[in-house]
Amino acid sequence: MILDKFSLKNKVAIVTGANTGLGQGICWAFAEAGAKIVGVGRSDMTQTREYIEKIGGAFFEIKADLMSTDCVLPIVDGTISHFGQVDILVNNAGIIRREDLENYSMKDWDDVMNTNIRTLFFLSQEVGRRMLAQGKGGKIINIASMLSYQGGIRVPAYTASKSAVLGLTREMANEWAKYGINVNGIAPGYMVTNNTAALRADDQRSAEILGRIPAGKWGVPEDIGGAAVFLASEAANYIHGFTIAVDGGWLAR
Ligand code: NAP
Repeated sequence: MILDKFSLKNKVAIVTGANTGLGQGICWAFAEAGAKIVGVGRSDMTQTREYIEKIGGAFFEIKADLMSTDCVLPIVDGTISHFGQVDILVNNAGIIRREDLENYSMKDWDDVMNTNIRTLFFLSQEVGRRMLAQGKGGKIINIASMLSYQGGIRVPAYTASKSAVLGLTREMANEWAKYGINVNGIAPGYMVTNNTAALRADDQRSAEILGRIPAGKWGVPEDIGGAAVFLASEAANYIHGFTIAVDGGWLAR
């Protein structure tokens, strides 16, 4: 039956940036859909864990600094040794650094690119290798952005990295679709999380953004859950290399 195809029962999902924001929303949605969750991040994940355990789910935490690829093997090995398999990866963790273009530093460029695209690629590569070895496919979901499509202002590294996420999602899909590994993306619009705290604190920018969102409101982490569960589930088995916008209509405008 069709709704059964949306279930994530007996699946093991790695979610990066699991302590807060969209990553936390995805962890909770996955747990509600029946998946066992490996939360990856550098900050305390108690809040994420508590809800999952409250609803009878399983949560395993792996502390990692995603700015460096040193974390890749510990994350994947830790997942396999704890839960015995990996079925889903969500590359959610990401950072943004704002500065005028003429003053943008190499450090900000490197930090953003390392976190948002370099680690995303090598973590996906390692998880994909394990999925190939398991021989039953898998799902990789990359969190993109409106700045995968648009230029943005004062965020050159973020725009470069998120544009790369969109292209890489297509590239990986092309190579791994034949193995039943679905690589897709979600492009969130303007969501209420730490990532947008500075924007929301700026009354003028905040009002301009709100005025351009057809839905008439900023998104919240719960808004991402449906698309994430769908792309992680069997219901999306024939979807490859596509990035779904969850943006209140921003791109349609
Ligand atoms: P957020 O609340 O700032 O979450 C970012 C997550 O990434 C946090 O869990 C953060 O951990 C983690 N992270 C960052 N650098 C890390 C590192 N070096 N090692 C380990 N974890 C690290 O913002 P969010 O909005 O939920 O962001 C989630 C994703 O959505 C990001 O890729 C972001 O670019 C994307 N996105 C957000 C929006 C939006 O409007 N909010 C729009 C489009 C795309 P800490 O809490 O420890 O920093």
